[in-house]
Amino acid sequence: MAINKAAYQQLNEELRLMNITLVAVSKTKPIEDIRALYNLGHRDFGENYVQELVEKAEQLPTDIRWHFIGHLQTNKVKSIVPFVYLIHGVDSLKLLNEINKQAGKNSRVIHCLLQVHIAQEETKFGFDENELFNLDISQFENVKINGLMGMASLTDDINKIRTEFKHLKTIAEKLKATTPQLQTLSMGMSSDYKIAIEEGSNMVRIGSLLFGERNYPE
Ligand SMILES: *Cc1c(COP(=O)(O)O)cnc(C)c1O
Repeated sequence: MAINKAAYQQLNEELRLMNITLVAVSKTKPIEDIRALYNLGHRDFGENYVQELVEKAEQLPTDIRWHFIGHLQTNKVKSIVPFVYLIHGVDSLKLLNEINKQAGKNSRVIHCLLQVHIAQEETKFGFDENELFNLDISQFENVKINGLMGMASLTDDINKIRTEFKHLKTIAEKLKATTPQLQTLSMGMSSDYKIAIEEGSNMVRIGSLLFGERNYPE
């Protein structure tokens, strides 16, 4: 497998002009593919399995900004806290407390995004709106919450996807009124990033468009 260099360069330029961060999602893809993108100047990479992330990080340059985008179990937090750049899918208070504790042990402040449950499907993780408005995000000394992350339903129904992204953007704006630090809005993947951007995303997580289809699902 090789990376799609032309697609990368075009997308990267397009997003750069709009000040949108491109997280290249390299899960299941080999080290050589990551290195190929790195050699084109890319630094933000996303992974969603702890073990895979740890193994890759050990073999790759230390100036890569590793984004953890998967569902993180509390017992795995300590493996990634020493080096992770941004944890996208923080979906419970329990997880926040554990990240805070492990970050303290590593004398780090870990940047996190709170995952919001916007898809109608039951299986998606995340806080719901009420929980978010009741959460005191200043209580964590070693965690800095930078914004929100969300995933739309897996559907071909573009209107449904748009409605879900719109909803997340609305929540983000409401929270920002009292908590201005919540600047980042991570939404959009290969299939729906254009809609996400139209609805206000400033960080997209793109895998298959850059690296080709994955052989097995996440
Ligand atoms: C795999 C994954 C992506 C990227 O998916 P593509 O469809 O390959 O772009 C984005 N976000 C999360 C949370 C993922 O697990």
